[in-house]
Amino acid sequence: MREKPLQYCFGPVQSRRLGVSLGVDLVPHKTCTLNCVYCECGRTTLLTDEIKEYVPTKDVIQELDSILRQNPLLDVVTFSGSGEPTLHSGIGTIIDHIKSNYRYKIAVLTNGTLLWNKDVRRRLYNADIVVPSLDAATESTFKKLCRPHISLTLNTIIEGIAQFKKEYGGLLILEIFIVPGINDLLPELQALADAARFIQPHRVQLNYLDRPGTEQWVKKARVVDLTTYAKFFTPIPVDIPGTPLYRVLELSLPLKEMILATIERRPSTVEDLAYSLGKETHIVEKILDELTQQGIVKYYDEARGRFYRKL
Ligand code: SF4
Repeated sequence: MREKPLQYCFGPVQSRRLGVSLGVDLVPHKTCTLNCVYCECGRTTLLTDEIKEYVPTKDVIQELDSILRQNPLLDVVTFSGSGEPTLHSGIGTIIDHIKSNYRYKIAVLTNGTLLWNKDVRRRLYNADIVVPSLDAATESTFKKLCRPHISLTLNTIIEGIAQFKKEYGGLLILEIFIVPGINDLLPELQALADAARFIQPHRVQLNYLDRPGTEQWVKKARVVDLTTYAKFFTPIPVDIPGTPLYRVLELSLPLKEMILATIERRPSTVEDLAYSLGKETHIVEKILDELTQQGIVKYYDEARGRFYRKL
């Protein structure tokens, strides 16, 4: 169990739509129903479908209260992180608590694999935005890309997301992560588009690799190709995020802690961090150099630049 049930993030991938976001991670690092080849948080260490109280719900609420009572300048509290948030049985209680006591919107970024379960669906009813992902609509590609827990089948997942859309009153955005050579082939795109039309989300978001994935062979899709793929999903509106719009979350954390909290969740370049935290690159670079020398972070070089990760 992690020391702190909450982690702070500074604009997740969906931040173009979600605005300034407080990220809440309810399960231990890389506890997930999937082990996606493109996961930017690394390989899943606990592949499970067990729904339980991974961290005490009351502790999460207490910690959230200590932050939200300060009226931080944020638009949304986002349940996401480096694992699957609906694995936590207390997510509904936590969402309801925030809705009853604060003015912030709530978003849940989920891999959608547990929405076949009516208790899980009910827990998310009070969220304002739910973003389930669906990266494949054929069983073989689903297994290749997402390497699911043995109990999961694709049809059940698609039906679960569609059922949730029928019952849920908020905004539902279906996220599809495109991995070139795997799910961008014509039959795969057609199957994905058919599944999306069955689910009837308000919008589809086509996503692509921004940071190194779990498997080295995963390549970044070209934005120009995503624009072509968007046409498959007619009449559903499709978003293609550009460079994520990071904004500073005004919490009273020292810069060093904000940097560590960010790279613990997602490896980042100096430029990513400087932009997301609203600081000069040389200031961020200096702190990262110190942290590297202290053995707290390490870096590795990728096509997009030098990425720093917390050890
Ligand atoms: S991308 Fe999301 S669903 Fe896939 S392994 Fe990572 S945390 Fe789990």
